[in-house]
Parts: sequence; C-alpha cells; structure tokens
Amino acid sequence: MSNDTTKEVTLAANEGIKVNSRYLRGTILEGLSDSSTGAVSGDDNQLLKFHGSYQQDDRDLRKQRRKEKLEKAFSFMIRVRVPGGVCSSEQYMKMLAISEKYADGALTFTTRQAFQFHRILKKDLKLAMKGINEALMTSIAACGDVNRNVMLNANPHASDLHEEVYQIALSVQDLLTPKTKAYDEIWMDVKPEQEEAETVEPLYGKTYLPRKFKVGMAVPPENDIDIYSQDLGYIAIEEKGKLTGFNVLVGGGMGMSHGNEKTYARLGSVIGFCTPDQVASVSENTVAIQRDFGDRTDRKHARFKYTIDDKGLDWFVKELAKRTGFTLEAAKPFEFISSGDAFGWIKGSNNLWSLTIHSNGGRVGDDTPSLKNGLKSLIELHQGEIRLTPNKNILLTGISDGNKLKMEAVVDEFKIGTIDHKSGARLNSIACVALPTCGLALSESSRHLPLFLDDFEAILNKNGLFNQPINVRITGCPNGCGRTPLAEIGLVGKAPGKWNLRLGASHSGDRLNLLYKQALTHEEILAELSPIVKAFADKREPEEGFGDFCMREGYVS
Ligand code: SF4
Repeated sequence: MSNDTTKEVTLAANEGIKVNSRYLRGTILEGLSDSSTGAVSGDDNQLLKFHGSYQQDDRDLRKQRRKEKLEKAFSFMIRVRVPGGVCSSEQYMKMLAISEKYADGALTFTTRQAFQFHRILKKDLKLAMKGINEALMTSIAACGDVNRNVMLNANPHASDLHEEVYQIALSVQDLLTPKTKAYDEIWMDVKPEQEEAETVEPLYGKTYLPRKFKVGMAVPPENDIDIYSQDLGYIAIEEKGKLTGFNVLVGGGMGMSHGNEKTYARLGSVIGFCTPDQVASVSENTVAIQRDFGDRTDRKHARFKYTIDDKGLDWFVKELAKRTGFTLEAAKPFEFISSGDAFGWIKGSNNLWSLTIHSNGGRVGDDTPSLKNGLKSLIELHQGEIRLTPNKNILLTGISDGNKLKMEAVVDEFKIGTIDHKSGARLNSIACVALPTCGLALSESSRHLPLFLDDFEAILNKNGLFNQPINVRITGCPNGCGRTPLAEIGLVGKAPGKWNLRLGASHSGDRLNLLYKQALTHEEILAELSPIVKAFADKREPEEGFGDFCMREGYVS
C-alpha cells in the first residue's frame, strides 16, 4: 500500500473486497450452490478472477432475454494457466474433453499462452475445475490482481536454451503463485484448515496487488511474446549456446482507456542484467515494490507502468537494489527480428523436429472441424510436448524423423499444416475474444478479423504484397488483450461497427503504434489503408516493414 500517510485516500472498491475475502474465499461456495440464479454476486465475481474464472453473459441475447423478462444468459469463462505455454499431449486432450463436456465445445488459445473455456454454466463450474486439476493443470492466478501466466517464447529452433529458460520460467511461476488454500477448498473439496495465519500470503498479503501483473521471458531473436509489453520481462542472453543471464525489463503495459489521457500503452524499459540465480530475487522484489507502491485508489492507474513513471525509473532501480542486496550489471546487447511465429517444420538444436500450425485465431471448436480433428489426430500420434504460442498458434515439438513421416500424412489429410493460401497479414494477425462474451467489448473483434482479412488481402494482392508479413491486430476495446499497441496495423474498438486505426509499430515489437484516425467503419478503414499499401509497394526501402514505412513517410508521427 502507498507509503503516503499525509493525506486521506479512498481505496478502490476491490481493495475492500480483497481484504474481507478471507484470502479469496468470499462467499463463492455459497454462490455456487444457489440454483435460483445462473450468476454469482458482484464481489464473488471479483474474487473468482483470482481463481481463473469470471462471469460473462451472451450479449447477443440480452435484448431478447430482457423482453422475455429473464435474467441475462450468464455463463463462466475459465482460463487455465500454462506456464511458458508448455503442456503435454495428454493434457491437451483432457482440456479438449472438458471443452466438449462443460463448455461450448471450443478450446481457445490465449495471447498469454493459456487455454480458455467459454460458456460454462454455474452448475458445471466446479466439475470443470476438478477436471482441469485432475489433468495436473490449474487456473489459479490466471486472472486477478496477482502475477498471471509466466510467458516464454515458443523457440522452435533453440531447443536446449528453451528448456533451460523454461525451467526458470516455471520456478518464477511457482514463486509468484498465491499460497492461499481457498482454491483447493472451493474447487477440490479439500477440508479447510483452522483459521489461517496472517503469513498465509507472505508475498501478497491480504490485499494482493493493486492490479494484474505480467512476467515474460524471451530468447532473442524471436519476440513472439512481445517482451516490451510485460510488467517484468527477462531477455535471455547467451554465449555460444549457453545461457549467461537475462536483461531485465520493467514497466511494459498495453492497456489504456478511450478519452483518458492519463492512461497509455508503455514499452518496458531495460534496466540491466542479472544472472539466472538472481531471477527469483528480482522477480519477488519487483512484485513486492508494486505491492507497496502501486496506486490502490484508482484501478485505471494501478498498473506497474504507472508506478514506474510516477516514481521514476532511477528510483525503481535503487529500490530494487536496496531490497535484493545487489546491483544489476549493465544490460548486454541483443536483437529481436520478429514478433511472429515460424510456421511449418523446423529442426531444432536437439535434431528433433517441431511443427507450428496456424490456428486461424486460436479457436479450436466444431466450427473449425478440420483444425479440431486434424490436431486431435496429430496429437494422438505425437504423444509429446506441446507449446501454445503467444500469437494463439500451436507448436508440437520433440518429433523424431520417423514420427514426422506419419504426422505429415495427417497434416496433408486435414490440410492444417499448409500456409500456402494465407497472407503474411493473416499469419501475423491476432484478435481478442470481444463480443459476444466480453462485457467490456465496444465492438466486434474475433468475429470481425476474418472479414477484415478477406478484404485486406484483396488490397495486398493488388499490390503484390500477399506474402508481406504485417502484424494486424484487433481488439474490441483499448484494454490491450490482443496487444494492439504493438501492431503495425491496429484496430481498436470504439463503438459498434467502428474502430480506431493505429499505425506504425515495428514488426519486431520494439516500437508502439500511434493513432492514425478515430472511429472508422470497416469500409473506411479499407479506404484509408488502400493508398498507404500502394505507396508501400511503390516506395518502400529494401527489407522495410509496413510499420516502419508508415512512420518514415509520416502517416503517423
Ligand atoms: Fe474484452 Fe477489451 Fe480484452 Fe477484447 S481487449 S477481450 S474487448 S477486454
């Protein structure tokens, strides 16, 4: 909590909910057994987030339900934490089975490398949670004011380095996971212990963090996790294939609010270098600094990036050194070249193959039958490690030459490995979920992306740029779940059928885009982009990316 004791402060309402929750219990259990409504109380919905779930309703049905004097069509989302995006084939199949039994039959891959289920009814919520835990997975801290899923880039090439960094990512995940027993009691029927001691959450305390907190790790030159968007980022530094440590980056964040200039996207700042055995201390103390100094009065100003800007980067570096007892070394040189995924078959440094498959938006359901069934057949053959990529695609790794042959036949049968007919923009696109389930969405996003891409591809084709990799990202609001501020073409929902158009981020994810024009319709966006794409085709410099061109030519400045 803020150290400022000289003035009265009014804490955000969530602070009271947390402090009175008995370490995230609230009345969730009672709410689940109330069959008179498909909903839970507002306070419990806030606490459910820490358990990796929250209540939603089908916004497409709101009008009709109101007319019929029915309560909203409530259901629940569950997000399953997948540290580093890594799980086993068996776990994938179990998640798919849960989606079919309790959710809407679709498994969603998120931009933080998690699995997500939608449309789970309250009566099934506990059963789904049990199923997740029986698969040795968990949803705790997938949402809420705590550290979320620790990300790690997919790294199909650097298998050995990936494994080393993955083990560090797992240890950070464990270190920053809430310690309350509330999760086990509520979802696993574990008998409550006597009243828990004050030390139950040695890191977080009773009020956890002021807002969510995100940690990510990246092995250059791949930046698919958008390391600059993380609250705390670690950039792996290697010498001759061996990990020597990490450059530490703090204060990234993508969310902002329309019309509130005090909110903004911010790139993380590189503050120095630490050795692998210093990562735990840097992580724990950075979180503790945000716990102690983050703004708990205004949730729109509560992310770590604002603490960094309000107090100053130098102050943070000194405070971190004071708490850790060591000073970070100077940052080492590094270079990122792309924030996209490398599709198809790649032989890793361990001489085993990986296969990255484009998922067309990260939804594997009955509306995408060849992807769903093809992946099922592939994964049954694979029986090995799976990695979800931060671009919502999926990578099967550790494949022998013999198994590759068998898997190639499946890829051909279901036509899921080919990227031949997909443009560079489609392969580098992300959409958040938005309508109909996200309560914050101002416009369509995941349902609009395919329509946008169909029309945008026609423009690219006309200008001979079909294969040009361009990051296209769309979100239904400025909260940044799809990391739109780092898109070369970013569409941010402003109102139904209207988006703000943002241009000019770099393809490697180290420069934010800027607002080009506000509240444009689909047709207006295409009309704006058409001459810019033509100019790009005519005047770009060798190897120049679309975002760099937009910046250089002054479309945004
Ligand atoms: Fe919802 Fe906004 Fe996040 Fe999209 S970016 S999922 S609309 S909160």
